[in-house]
This record gives sequence, structure tokens and C-alpha cells, in this order.
Amino acid sequence: MQTIENRNLNKNKVFNSQDYIKLENDYGADNYHPLEVVINKGQGAWVWDVEGNKYLDCLSAYSALNQGHCHPLIYQALVEQASKVTLTSRAFHNDQLGKFYQKICHISGLPKVLPMNSGAEAVETAIKAIRKWAYTVKGVSHNQAEIIVCNNNFAGRTISLVSFSTEEQYQSGFAPFTPGFKTIPYGDAKALKSAITPNTAAFFLEPIQGEGGIIIPPVGYLQEIESICRKNNVLLVFDEIQTGLGRTGKMFAFEHEGVKPDGITIGKALSGGFYPISAFISTHEVMDVFNPGDHGSTFGGNPLAAAVGIAALDVIIEENLPERASQLGAYFLSQLQTIPSPYIQEVRGRGLLIGLELKPSAGGARRFCKALMGLGILAKETRENIIRFAPPLVISRSEIDWALQRIEQVLMSE
Ligand SMILES: *Cc1c(COP(=O)(O)O)cnc(C)c1O
Repeated sequence: MQTIENRNLNKNKVFNSQDYIKLENDYGADNYHPLEVVINKGQGAWVWDVEGNKYLDCLSAYSALNQGHCHPLIYQALVEQASKVTLTSRAFHNDQLGKFYQKICHISGLPKVLPMNSGAEAVETAIKAIRKWAYTVKGVSHNQAEIIVCNNNFAGRTISLVSFSTEEQYQSGFAPFTPGFKTIPYGDAKALKSAITPNTAAFFLEPIQGEGGIIIPPVGYLQEIESICRKNNVLLVFDEIQTGLGRTGKMFAFEHEGVKPDGITIGKALSGGFYPISAFISTHEVMDVFNPGDHGSTFGGNPLAAAVGIAALDVIIEENLPERASQLGAYFLSQLQTIPSPYIQEVRGRGLLIGLELKPSAGGARRFCKALMGLGILAKETRENIIRFAPPLVISRSEIDWALQRIEQVLMSE
């Protein structure tokens, strides 16, 4: 029963960070372990907590904020479109979607798009497309299609996607799983060759593993797997949800080796952090497997998402964010590599996707992340021992210098 008292919940109460955290803990599921900072404002590479403290955001919402927080041009597109029409459903056309498709195709070099919302949905879409292609084009027998994936992958949290995770925690308690996936080691082209059978539909992988700990495959790997896939009539599909849209110093990470995939999943920075927008992009041959009624989403391809997506892509192109990531990332990485801390195992990265791996004896990355937070830098541990540095691509060199000083201080003293 709704009483007068609880309709006026929180009336006249002034909240501080601890109050907000307590509310989340009291009422929310315990499926995350956030650092104890409550953000209520963001601009560019910076965020502020409710007490007014300022932090440099070195996570960028797992690379969803390549364009920086609250980019004014994306904001403008959001507000303008929100004042006109936000959702039409795909039962009708809208005047934004086609332009959004065209822009995605123009930057990716692939001709067809299917819009979804979250990254996980884009990957689910890719899997459906791959399987249907296997049956209707390649001629794999009913129910036999296999998709090869890699050890240490991350593709999202739906049942089918955790079905091919190799992280025990991502699967534990959630069985039974979706069959049809075969796992091989990441970065090993020979393993791909031996895993392929006549039933193999696709090789699906991240060109650099993000959640897996910023794992960069050996030079030449992407070209080798491309040629193995071609020879065997196996689709090559990249998950660029984290690495795409400028993060690694190119629009897409596969461009570092000049390969041409049959499909790509994108998400995260596709909205510059304003809105969940994702897509599966592919060749005609693959996308043509979909007929009306085969697949869909109530919100996928809505005019608000499309308008936001167009603006988010325009910002990446007009502000040369891939080039910025390339130059600033090389600088950031080389400077991190000079820090003579006894805790550091390795610093690796591509563009502004950098992983600083600590030695097992360092006692885990989280305590360093807490110390960094105390000095005004937000970074998050990735796996147990890796600190990921992935700031918005609009970050400046002087902001990187500001961060470097504090990162060095923490790594030398903790
Ligand atoms: C984040 C991520 C996903 C999942 O995206 P969600 O929007 O969280 O569903 C999939 N693949 C990769 C490589 C990612 O980094």
C-alpha cells in the first residue's frame, strides 16, 4: 500500500556519497563492485563526485565515452531529436535511420547494418546471422553449425554469450548453456586451422581482447586468420565493441593489419555514452539471410538512437579521434613503460587502450585503483592484476602528463 509517507520518500534529506552508496546497496542487486565514488557530473575527460571532487576518467565506461563525457554536439542531437520523435518502432520508417546506416557503412567498408541496443544484442545478432548463413549459404546440415571462439574472450552476459566464456565466474550457476561453440587459444593461427571442420561457420573474436586484460595478438595474426578463413569458406567476424570507433588508433582495430572481415559488431562509443546503441555490420551475403520477421528489437534503430549515433560518429571523424588515440596512446604507453616500479610486470597497449599488468606479488590491482582515486584518477582493475588506462580520446597531452605524475607516485609508493 502506497502511503503518504513513502510517496514523499527522501523529502528534505540532503544526500552525501555514503547515502547514495547505501541506497544502491540496500535496494540494488550486488552484481558489481564499484569503487566508492558517486559521480554526478561529467565533461570531456573529467567527472565530479557529489562532494565536488574532480577526477580524470581513465576508464571511459569501458570505452563507451571515446568522445568524452556530455559532448555538446551529441547532446544537441539528442535534445533536438527528443523534441521531435523518439520511437517509431520498426513497423514504420523514420527519417534518421537510413542516414545512420549510411554513415556506419561508410566508416566500416561493409555494406549492410542491423541496429540493436546493447553490445550483447549485437553479438547475439551476429551469431544468428552466422548460423543462418551456414545453413542457407554454406550448406551445413541442420543443427550442426559451429562457431570458433577464443579463450579469454568477452562478448557480453546473455546465456548464449556466457556459454562460450572461459571465465568460470561468468558461467557458474547459469547452466545449461547454448551449444555450438568451439574454443581455441587466442593469438594462435595454427589452432584455428586445426579446429576448422566442414561445419565451421565462423571465427568470432576480438582483434584485441579488452576485458580479457588488453591482450594483443602477435603481429600478422589477423592476416593469417583472414587467409585461413577465406581458404575454408569460414566467416571472419570481429567483435569491435570495445576496440572499435577510434580506441586503438584506427577507426577499427582490424585496420592495423588491413584485413577485411565479413562482419563486425559495434556498440559502446557508437552513442558517445548517451544511449545504448549497437549494431551488427556485414556483407550482403551474410545480411541477406535475414527476412522480415526473422529478428528484431523494439528500440533497435529508433530515431533518437540514430540521431545520437550519427552525431557520435561525426564527432569521431571531425575531431580525428583515431589519430589522437594513436599519438597520445603511443606517448602515454611509452611514458608508463619508463616507471621503474618493482610492482610492474608489463605495460602494453594500442592507441588509448592500455593495460598495466602488475606482478602477482603486488597484491592485486584494486588497491592501486583505490590509491589512484585518492589522487583524482578513476581507473578500474581488469581481471585480478591489470589496471586498464582507457581515457576518453579527447584527453589532452597535459592531462596525460597530470595523470602520469600521479600514476608514478602510486606505483612507486603503495
Ligand atoms: C562490452 C563488450 C561487449 C558487451 O557489450 P554490452 O553493451 O555490455 O552488452 C561485447 N563485446 C566486447 C568486446 C565488449 O567489450
